[in-house]
Amino acid sequence: MLNVITIAEAQQLIAEKFGQLRMPEEQVPLEAALGRVLAHDCLATEFVPNFNRSTVDGYAVRAQDVFGCSDSIPALLMQVGEAKMGEHTELEILSGECVYVPTGAEIPAGADCVIPLEDTEPLGDGTIAVYKPVSPGTNLIFRGDDVKPGDLVLPAGRRLNVADIGALAALGQTQVWVRQMPRIAVISTGDELVAPGEPLPMGKIRDVNAAMLVAFVHSTGAVADFIGIIPDNLEAVRAALQNSLVGHDLVLLTGGTSVGVKDAVPQVVAELGELLVHGLAVKPGKPTLFGQVQGKPVFGLPGNPVAAYFMAYLLVRPLVASMLGTQFAERKVSLPLARNVPSNHGREEYVPVVIREGKAQPIASKSGLITMLANTDGFLCIPRDKEGLRQGELVEVTLFER
Ligand code: AMP
Ligand code: MG
Repeated sequence: MLNVITIAEAQQLIAEKFGQLRMPEEQVPLEAALGRVLAHDCLATEFVPNFNRSTVDGYAVRAQDVFGCSDSIPALLMQVGEAKMGEHTELEILSGECVYVPTGAEIPAGADCVIPLEDTEPLGDGTIAVYKPVSPGTNLIFRGDDVKPGDLVLPAGRRLNVADIGALAALGQTQVWVRQMPRIAVISTGDELVAPGEPLPMGKIRDVNAAMLVAFVHSTGAVADFIGIIPDNLEAVRAALQNSLVGHDLVLLTGGTSVGVKDAVPQVVAELGELLVHGLAVKPGKPTLFGQVQGKPVFGLPGNPVAAYFMAYLLVRPLVASMLGTQFAERKVSLPLARNVPSNHGREEYVPVVIREGKAQPIASKSGLITMLANTDGFLCIPRDKEGLRQGELVEVTLFER
């Protein structure tokens, strides 16, 4: 019999036992930093922009010189020069003067706004007619408007996205201190498993979990190594686990985690280290275990791929986040339920859903078919003290990343 605990209890225990594990830092070039987690706060060391800059093509002026002008009574200003892209300008304007500036060029000293070209007209003799007034500060960004030296641009723990890489480039950074990626070993166990690409004799099934968990590991920003398909026998599982501990920060096994005579994983983990939990009050995912061997977290996920998916998501993903010193965002939406869903009392239940016409349509995953899960949009959770959920009831759907 499994001694079951809830997902929340399991998550808490994982946080207690492994919350101190933190990956060391390393420096990577900016080009390789996408998806990596910042090890330190990133402070600006430069002004962005580095000079007062126009945001339009037009004429830099003093706002007071164009105050009250209109189509019928234009302000007339003398053009005293032109600012050039990429060049510092020594020009300075006095009252009654203007300077042509293209978008992104430096504003000459003395100007406090820019009149867009379309609101002006050159009269041919060096005089520019301005037909529309603007207030001071319009159509320009001042030096340091974006960031100033010392400003916090990105906090430690930030998982760098595409825009973040741009922000770091804007600050002139070429190397970034990030957390090393955890290395995670993935091991499939089961006499019935055949790798994709191999012939599939009757009675055998495809190893789904290897590829799926390797992909899962990558999605968390960690590195995966697939160790192989290991038969259901103690010596083979023991050897695989022992070998995989070398060079890996965490081990994910699937299959053979239940209480059958052939289920070797619980015994091997208990023998080599400490079996912390065996059995969860959750559906799917009851025969899940975790423990530590040589201080490293080891998970025995159920062989059922849907169960393995949910347990990886609910238990392993937060741990990887913590090892990286970050938190992964979850996107949730609240939607009415398309139909009644019955549930077992006493076990928390995770139900994949498709979102259709603004409603959450639960997908029965009794069969544990990963192909059904693949076409869903997210999942909902039925608390253990509920007998089920009613049609029309508002439910919280956690969206899968797409
Ligand atoms: P187990 O957890 O070993 O009791 O396996 C539960 C179910 O999942 C059985 O039907 C297994 O055949 C299946 N299974 C186990 N490992 C895998 C795997 N790597 N890929 C796909 N199905 C699996
Ligand atoms: Mg098995």
